[in-house]
Amino acid sequence: MLRTHPAWLYALVLSGSLGCAAASDSTSQRADLVIYGRVWTGDSARPWAQAVAISGETIAAVGDSAALAKLVGTGTRVIANGKAMVVPGFTDAHVHLLSSGFQIARVSLREASSPADLTRRLKEHVVKVAPGEWITGGDWDHERWPGAKLPERSWIDSVTPNNPVFVNRLDGHMSLANSAALRLAGISKDSPEVPGGTIVRNPRTGEPTGVLKDNARDAVNRVIPAPSDAQSDSALMRAMRWAVARGVTAVGTMSNDPGKLAVAESWREFAALKRAHDKRSMLTRVSIYVSLDAWRDMADTFRLQGAGDNWLRTAGVKGFVDGSLGSTTALFYEPYKDAPETSGLFVTPEDSLRAWIGGADSAGLQVVVHSIGERANGVLLDIYDSVAKAHGPRDRRFRIEHAQHLRRRDIPRFGKNNVIPSMQPYHAMDDGRWAEKRIGPERIKTTYAFRSLLDSGARLAFGSDWTVASLDPLLGIYAAVTRRTLDGKNPNGWIPEQKITVEEALRAYTTNNAYGVFAEKSRGKLAAGYVADVVVLDQDLTAIPAEAIQRATVRATIVGGKIVYSQP
Ligand SMILES: [Zn+2]
Repeated sequence: MLRTHPAWLYALVLSGSLGCAAASDSTSQRADLVIYGRVWTGDSARPWAQAVAISGETIAAVGDSAALAKLVGTGTRVIANGKAMVVPGFTDAHVHLLSSGFQIARVSLREASSPADLTRRLKEHVVKVAPGEWITGGDWDHERWPGAKLPERSWIDSVTPNNPVFVNRLDGHMSLANSAALRLAGISKDSPEVPGGTIVRNPRTGEPTGVLKDNARDAVNRVIPAPSDAQSDSALMRAMRWAVARGVTAVGTMSNDPGKLAVAESWREFAALKRAHDKRSMLTRVSIYVSLDAWRDMADTFRLQGAGDNWLRTAGVKGFVDGSLGSTTALFYEPYKDAPETSGLFVTPEDSLRAWIGGADSAGLQVVVHSIGERANGVLLDIYDSVAKAHGPRDRRFRIEHAQHLRRRDIPRFGKNNVIPSMQPYHAMDDGRWAEKRIGPERIKTTYAFRSLLDSGARLAFGSDWTVASLDPLLGIYAAVTRRTLDGKNPNGWIPEQKITVEEALRAYTTNNAYGVFAEKSRGKLAAGYVADVVVLDQDLTAIPAEAIQRATVRATIVGGKIVYSQP
């Protein structure tokens, strides 16, 4: 028994010999699963409890262990988690689910620590791929390399002569193509500049170096063949298994980029999700956000098919204001410190944003928009304001994805206008290493302003932007609570006044995220009648030093009453 089940997870078959399961008791009062532990419910009426009882797909009761022990009967499974925590299933507000499913099977350059290391990793990968086949994936980060030099195709051409390569930076806002890929995409010295994007060129010769930023990447993406349905289905299952192994029981999945390709990709993801839903093979609950520029089609889907159910929700549309800090395309009022020739760019023209957001809102869709820089956030808050004023009161729950850099005066607007800041704490650990050199000491004070946003009444929602960052919510909680940076240089936290507590971070991953997708009446907390999405942890996050949170792990994940993951 103990060999197949760890000590904390055991299926108790209580017989009459224990004396408490009288045969005459109606089985309808018995729970299918009872979990004991230090239960954090997320329910402000009763934040802590000793046990959770589950019947079928829903929570039957939450309360004292003595009271809930009465629900244990023949065939009730019991998980005894001792003093470790039991929490509502984590929701990740912002992932790219299907593309992450593909990504985890592709070349990984995330750990590449130098240009030579990047080349070596590609060389090792290329032998696994048939000649002619595209090599994608990547997640490289030139900020990790000495000198932070952008990569060039000349570094990789010699090791990838027979395969087109298109590998992205980890923020997804720039990609490196080899010469074969540029050729297939028709990008050369003579290619004109692309609105909302950049073809990085050798300043002397004008030849493209291979790095393409934002919209300039479309030309390559267009020539990469689309995956088959079967490939999409297995990528989706891979992503869902990955999610539940980290306690993630629900996600919001976002369209990747503006433009036609991202629209096609969104619908491909939607179709794969529908197939999984029809087969009842979904492991995590999904709310899907299709590209904002396709809002009319999404409005039709919404009208014809409704908002979906608790497994798959037709949630809304996702747009983009700007690019990213790492690519110096995040939009600011002032120029970058280390690139004074630019203050970022609009990835979507402001008038299109205004028109599409207005259209989507009048169709009753929820609108969420990627916005990183101070000016991007300022402009988007203005657009949200004017759309809300023009269309009148409605429970619209506008969201800003990332809301990374905010002017002080814009912070209270989130709480006041009920705009949800949907943020990624792990990004702070990452950007904290180099953001100051890019935007200076003043602007970083209101960067990832978790504390200030909460204090001003905003409903903070957390996510990972997977695969931009690790999907692990425990790492996200660690990041929000400690604000330590990946380089270990800020042991007391980077901008420590913006730290938040474990419980505030938990709320951002559970109740607030349920609210962020209009699902707060059925999920996000442990309460009778709510869906039985529960995570069993190996620690009490509120009882250990904050630095230890990153080493906590998920023992078991329950979705809709089913144990979909248990730690080996
Ligand atoms: Zn994203």
